Amino acid sequence: MKTLVINSGSSSIKFQLLDMVSEAVLATGIVERIGEPVGKIACTVHPGSGQERNIDREERIATHHQGMMLVGAVLCDRDGGVIRSNKEIDIVGHRVVHGGEQFQRPTVIDDAVIDAITENIPLAPLHNPANLDGIVVARQLFPAIPQVAVFDTAFHQTIPDWAYIYALPYELYEQHRVRRYGFHGTSHKFVAGECARLMGKKLSDINLVTIHLGNGCSMTAIENGRSVDTTLGMTPLEGLVMGTRSGDIDPAIHAFLYRNKGMDLERIDAMLNKESGLKGICGFNDMRDIHAAAAQGDERARLALDVQTYRNKKYIGAYVAVLGRVDALVFTAGIGENDFIVRERSLRGLESLGIELDHDRNRCRIKVPTPLHTETSRIQIWVIPTNEELAIARESIGLVSDAADQR
Ligand code: AMP
Repeated sequence: MKTLVINSGSSSIKFQLLDMVSEAVLATGIVERIGEPVGKIACTVHPGSGQERNIDREERIATHHQGMMLVGAVLCDRDGGVIRSNKEIDIVGHRVVHGGEQFQRPTVIDDAVIDAITENIPLAPLHNPANLDGIVVARQLFPAIPQVAVFDTAFHQTIPDWAYIYALPYELYEQHRVRRYGFHGTSHKFVAGECARLMGKKLSDINLVTIHLGNGCSMTAIENGRSVDTTLGMTPLEGLVMGTRSGDIDPAIHAFLYRNKGMDLERIDAMLNKESGLKGICGFNDMRDIHAAAAQGDERARLALDVQTYRNKKYIGAYVAVLGRVDALVFTAGIGENDFIVRERSLRGLESLGIELDHDRNRCRIKVPTPLHTETSRIQIWVIPTNEELAIARESIGLVSDAADQR
């Protein structure tokens, strides 16, 4: 079973071809700068196998259609491609950012699903149109095989209304679906499943707090395997401090900036999404740069680290309260997997909650799932690398196999 995973953005298409018998990655790559004068395709075939090969080309890539054609051509390339023809691909799995309230699980794509994703464009105006571009083109190129949409929001559709309703006039929810949705669901679900497996428990028997700290950051409270609260909201802006996104702020700041600085809403929205977070505080959005600057005595870099890790700690405490009993905390994504300083600071002082970090284990270089708690810690602490492409491929295969079994 070969599964092609597509993550189509506004000017890029990330792709991965997996053999789902062995779960080996056959090829992984990205088509970038679609629509610009010079585009780029980069692909690594058989990554990590010792026989890997890199393809790196620059050429004009006018449209997503042309970009997807290039993906097909690279995978089938006579010199070093990984399949003989596109017919060897069995399923295409698409990442879709916003599934609104309609999608609680992955879904085989048909015209009605495309209409529903289109209806959700107002909720994710930057992401859903780009995701749709990838879907439309892939359906044209691979008309005979099932295509599955895997939604970032779906895992969080189990969140109860008291956690997803904003304290705003209720008509805004009724008429415009203004509510909290949450994102990164595929990642939270994946690491939760891996954590249960590593603990030798059923996911439906355990409570977890999963902490996804990458360029985007979010935390999820998981009760008996189901998401019951998460930090990202109606859009991927609420909650934790991110690379360039503010996370929680006083909503009255909008009015203040409008009245006192004459900023219009578009400007404020761009500022909160692209110029805030770690970058807003210290000028760097990559945590490695922030550590380097802090080590040189840069006070703003130190402050950015303090602000982010304080917010992390505050939400961990909140989610321990939400869940009552927590079996494990799971760190994942670029910062969560690699940054022992952020982990250490986010957990500092939480010993009274039963969270005890083993500092030696925490400082080791971690590439595989690793426990970081002390022998006496009541709550386990894990680092579990996320793998959203594998998660999308597994979900897609699972869905199509279930549908075949029911026939
Ligand atoms: P992601 O969105 O999961 O790809 O994470 C990207 C972010 O992870 C980068 O912007 C960095 O801030 C952070 N990151 C990646 N590698 C490291 C590392 N070795 N140490 C600290 N932070 C890292």
